[in-house]
Amino acid sequence: MKVKVVSRILEANDRIALENRKIFDRAGVFVINLMSGPGAGKTSLLERTIAQKAGLRVGVIEGDIAGSDDAERVDRLGVPVVQINTGGACHLDSNMISEVLDDLPLDDLDIVFIENVGNLVCPAEFKVGEDMKAMVLSITEGHDKPLKYPLMFQESAALVLNKTDLAPYVDANVDKIRKDAISLNPQIRIFEVSCKTGEGIPEWIAWLKEKAGKG
Ligand code: MG
Ligand code: ZN
Repeated sequence: MKVKVVSRILEANDRIALENRKIFDRAGVFVINLMSGPGAGKTSLLERTIAQKAGLRVGVIEGDIAGSDDAERVDRLGVPVVQINTGGACHLDSNMISEVLDDLPLDDLDIVFIENVGNLVCPAEFKVGEDMKAMVLSITEGHDKPLKYPLMFQESAALVLNKTDLAPYVDANVDKIRKDAISLNPQIRIFEVSCKTGEGIPEWIAWLKEKAGKG
């Protein structure tokens, strides 16, 4: 019985996600659903991306359980942003996104990032209307994460390994993270970046431009 209920919720979610997707497509916007655990650096990656986006028109939807700190950080950089507070829910769903679509100037954007709630589990289960999912993992989180949270890695088109500047100070086995991520998802594109120093960001931006058809 419980299985049936869950699958019905996901079906309803997928229906609304498809409607969102049609709206994004009509506006010619490429949409990335950005996921990670708390503190991996999703907002920092967006700040770097916006600072170096050269020619890409970016908009952001911020998802957090509470607060608007991340939206304020993005707003300071002068790009359109809307904050969703889930009020306790640990992931974004398609209905939450549907409700804020009118608050972004979609026709004037090339890429919309949807920064999901910091959580390595259920954000990967919910479509919200994105073209693709991407995830951030900081190398300080430990090399066991791909095998412990396989769905995130399986669902993501790109894996951004952040905080590479900290490699000398932590026992981070980046090779194992890469190997396990690729074993779960042979197509995954892996970027090693430091949002602190900016290392690796140009490669990430080049990939975004290619995906958004602006390369
Ligand atoms: Mg954030
Ligand atoms: Zn959740």
